[in-house]
Amino acid sequence: MPTRQQFERSEVMTKVRVFQIPIEDEKKIVYIPELLKLFLVPKTVKVENYVEAPDHTSAVFKPPKQQFRRCDLILNNFCNLRCIYCYSNAGVPLKKEMSFAIVQKAIDRVVAVCLGLGESKFGITLTGGGEPLLSFKLVQRIVRYCRTRSKETGLVCKLAVVSNGNFSEKVCGYLIENFDNISISIDGTPEVHNQHRPTATGKGSFTLLERNVDRLLASGKIGVGFRMTISSYNVEQLDKHVLFLHHRWPGVLIGMEPLENTGRCASIGTIAPDPIKFAKHFVHAMRISKEHGIQIRYSIATFKAVPDTISFCGVNGQIFGVDPEGSITACTRVNTKSDPLAPLFQYGSFDTKLGDFVIDDDMYARLGALVVDSILGCNDCFARYNCKGDCCHLRANKYGTDFVIRKSPKCYANRLLTLGLLRLALSLAEVFKP
Ligand code: SF4
Ligand code: SF4
Repeated sequence: MPTRQQFERSEVMTKVRVFQIPIEDEKKIVYIPELLKLFLVPKTVKVENYVEAPDHTSAVFKPPKQQFRRCDLILNNFCNLRCIYCYSNAGVPLKKEMSFAIVQKAIDRVVAVCLGLGESKFGITLTGGGEPLLSFKLVQRIVRYCRTRSKETGLVCKLAVVSNGNFSEKVCGYLIENFDNISISIDGTPEVHNQHRPTATGKGSFTLLERNVDRLLASGKIGVGFRMTISSYNVEQLDKHVLFLHHRWPGVLIGMEPLENTGRCASIGTIAPDPIKFAKHFVHAMRISKEHGIQIRYSIATFKAVPDTISFCGVNGQIFGVDPEGSITACTRVNTKSDPLAPLFQYGSFDTKLGDFVIDDDMYARLGALVVDSILGCNDCFARYNCKGDCCHLRANKYGTDFVIRKSPKCYANRLLTLGLLRLALSLAEVFKP
């Protein structure tokens, strides 16, 4: 792992890395990720491996400071659906719901940080574990408490919820009036969605979701986004599923992630898509999306200039997730003490005697170092600025404690995908060439 001094040195560097990727027809792609610059040149053109960038500041390693401006409240572990790939295996274990005492302290902590930093707003996201809106009474108490804290402090509260879209008309109306954003899990056409996401009684969950999405969008009062999970069942027709969603609900941002073999998915047998197949179909879907003006997103396909791109997600001390038992987690996928990966991602808990959270500072500091530069071999990779070593949960699931220094199990596919997107940006005829 690089030392603190090595990271800090980059602060004064004025040179940035240039990557050269040979392709067909005696050409090469010249890619400068830190400046988001891309060229196609003959292979014979001499290009240096670094370029002067006097106005540019490279990403620097800054140990996180427990300054949480937002919180992910994982309200419960129960669900009205039985998605075949559920990472939490929700609905099966003993029912757990977060206590209001935990909720209050989590919100208070975020509010205090935001006040201290002179922010104008704070953010609360309600998420799973299970389906957060099944804890509707608790949700209403949370909203009331957020409003109270807003009035007291002058901070605006941004409320978001992640949901399966299967809720009543009453809940739908409440969301419209009280929430800023909702992310709804939807996996494509009704057929594949119902195959992926049956109800607890084995019926399809698309019809109710459809009615709710129509109503949410018609209100114009709440931001709606889609989250698709890609399995071996929908990967090959990714373009068809994206086009279906776009034609049914034009303009909604479609985020997608390939599923990971964990939770229920691991126990029923593998349906995770082949990573190379996913890369190929994603690049194709991206091309179709550009032609139709559709916005699709995938975490690996995010191109941003530094400085905020050295960690794949907020796992490096940015995520303040609280699970139903009051444990603090850096990865919202790890949401119970009994998860085998809990020792790798949980960094504190709610102490009922103290009535407050206690953070394990050593653990928090270890999580803070989960940046792409810690991974052996990623430093020299042209895809490091968008792959960033990939999801830590995926790596920990595969490599255990070694995950800190190990590349993504999808490394090759991630590089292919990145190259495919670069080829697409350069308008090359063939965008995916393994
Ligand atoms: S480590 Fe992976 S699963 Fe966990 S929060 Fe980050 S992206 Fe999500
Ligand atoms: S895991 Fe592989 S693709 Fe990702 S940054 Fe590291 S070397 Fe590059």
